[in-house]
Amino acid sequence: MRYIKPLVILIVFILFMSPLVLTADSIKINADDLRVRSGPGTNFDPIGHVNTGDTFEQLDLEDGWIQINYQGSTGWVHQDFVLSVSDDGANPDEETSSTDDTVIETSKSDSVSFPYETTVELAVIHLRAEPDVFSERIAKLKKKTNVTVIDQVDGEWYHVETDEEVGYVKQAILDLKQTEPIGVSPFVGKTIVIDPGHGGIDVGAISLDDEYESIHTLITANHLKNKLEARGATIRMTRDDDFYYPLTPRATLSNYLKADLFLSLHYNSEPSYPTANGIDTYYRNASRIELANDVHQAILTETGANDRGVASGNYSVLRNNRRPGLLLELGFLSNTQEERLILQRSYQDKLAEGISNGVEKYFSR
Ligand SMILES: [Zn+2]
Repeated sequence: MRYIKPLVILIVFILFMSPLVLTADSIKINADDLRVRSGPGTNFDPIGHVNTGDTFEQLDLEDGWIQINYQGSTGWVHQDFVLSVSDDGANPDEETSSTDDTVIETSKSDSVSFPYETTVELAVIHLRAEPDVFSERIAKLKKKTNVTVIDQVDGEWYHVETDEEVGYVKQAILDLKQTEPIGVSPFVGKTIVIDPGHGGIDVGAISLDDEYESIHTLITANHLKNKLEARGATIRMTRDDDFYYPLTPRATLSNYLKADLFLSLHYNSEPSYPTANGIDTYYRNASRIELANDVHQAILTETGANDRGVASGNYSVLRNNRRPGLLLELGFLSNTQEERLILQRSYQDKLAEGISNGVEKYFSR
């Protein structure tokens, strides 16, 4: 009990001091379920999510990615999904959270003597020319880099030395350990092959307005790729341009990559029956019925499209594929109303969202 009072005084002191110490602006998240990554880029592991309205101190910026305090460590979010908040508008929540970190740092640095050796624990940190987040970045220190901490400067910076350079790193960043990928997303570590049906001289079905299936499947594939990558999956496409690629190599790519999932995207056509509409989902092997149902139902939920059912289909891309796979017939280009929907960006978004939700359900089993 004796130590609690001085600690409270310390916390209160820092609480009052912190708005003066923290020069960096705060940011407010402007997207739901936004992925936080361990470094500034989509190639870094996702370590969690943040949501609209969450506020953070901005620690650093690189190539459009903002480093934030996150769960006792740091993470990076893309600047397209955040709003900056001026220091004046800072709300009490964020001051409390940055204060917590400051308390930890303060007690830690009190007990060390300089110089000492340490290693970089975060995916990437910046070595600066001066003890200032806006000063020149002289090096990028990767995880496991050995550094010697020479001294502490201005209370929140370390003067450090590596094998090659001398500079400054923010104390809060060097002291932190990497947050483990928390596995919140079942997509982490999963490779999904997306196969936009047809292409080039093989245009597939042709709509009433002379639109080609091969173009629509590529548009849908790109939407889906963005959605799945945002959830943490690794995506490979069998084609990303409008050229002809034979069928067998599409399945071979899936086998070669040991894909966790293969999705072949198609649109249907039945000119002799122009009212035909809705979505079919095909699997090859009975062991994939659960996968097919998960994805099919999720697409219907999202789009409200007509349910044409789940069935086994003897398609080359599934037959020659040893990996879990589906062929999706996402609507009829021969139906005027449905084609109009398929041409809408908002409907493409629903298709991609539905497929992603279904895949998430399957991966979560
Ligand atoms: Zn097709």
